[in-house]
This record gives sequence, structure tokens and C-alpha cells, in this order.
Amino acid sequence: MLPHMNAPEERTLILLKPDAVARGLVGQLIARFEGKGLRIEEMQMRTLDAATADEHYAEHVDKSWYPSLRDFICSGPLVALMLAGDQAIDVVRGMIGATDGRQAAPGTIRGDFSLSNQANLVHASDSAASAARELKLFFPN
Ligand code: ADP
Ligand code: MG
Repeated sequence: MLPHMNAPEERTLILLKPDAVARGLVGQLIARFEGKGLRIEEMQMRTLDAATADEHYAEHVDKSWYPSLRDFICSGPLVALMLAGDQAIDVVRGMIGATDGRQAAPGTIRGDFSLSNQANLVHASDSAASAARELKLFFPN
């Protein structure tokens, strides 16, 4: 039996944000996740409306910078993915790197491709509770 067959599975929500789509990085970013061994279980391209952005970023709606984030995340199409795998939530957070692309470590997605604390290419759920809530918003079925 292959070792991965007994691994506990987790699911996490990834958004390839509008900057990733606009820059033509979708293929490269998905290749990183697939190369790691994570499985794509759902995938959808869509443009968020303000209400959906507010729901997704509920923890940030009162921050001073939130209006700017909302404009950015609604500015064009993004790609939402449900990724699955052993410890997928923490594994993906490690792969994307620190929030601010200027500080994110080389080798991470943000460290390699972003020079911004807002246009940082990828969203990934940060806990099991966030993953459950966010996945339900994007993939209600
Ligand atoms: P992460 O995406 O790493 O979980 P946060 O949850 O802290 O980071 O923030 C959510 C998103 O809001 C970030 O990915 C980034 O796009 C944006 N953001 C965070 N901090 C700022 C800021 N100070 N100014 C503008 N946008 C920000
Ligand atoms: Mg966050």
C-alpha cells in the first residue's frame, strides 16, 4: 500500500487573486500545488461582488485598509480552488509565505512573485475553522 493512502485528508480554500490572473501566473501557481501532491477537488473562475468579498474577509471588514482590499479582490476574475491532501491547510500556508510579498521568503509563492502587501497573488485558509467556512462560501455543494 502506498504511504499516502492512510494519510488524514484536509481540504483548504485557495484563491488565485485577480493579480495572479492578470499576470498570467495561474498555470505556474497551480503547477506548484499539483507538484507538491495536493489534489484539485473543485476549481472555478469568477469575479467577486462586494458582498461576497465582505463575507469572505469578514475578519477584516473593519480595518482601515479593507476598502482598498475589497476594490482589489473584486477588480477582475480570480480562480478559486478546493485543494485536498495530508495537512493541506498548513502545507499550503507554508507554500504561499508571509502576507507581505516584500518580506516573504524566497521559494514561497509570494516571496518569488510578489512585491506588495496587498497584491500578493494567493489567499489560503489559515485554520480548519476558516477552511470550512470559506469552502462553504465558494463551493456550497
Ligand atoms: P493572509 O492573506 O496572509 O492571511 P491577512 O489575513 O492578514 O493575510 O490579510 C488578508 C489580505 O489582505 C492579504 O492577503 C492582503 O491581500 C491584504 N492586506 C493585508 N494587510 C494589508 C494592508 N496593510 N494593506 C492592504 N492590504 C492588506
Ligand atoms: Mg488571513
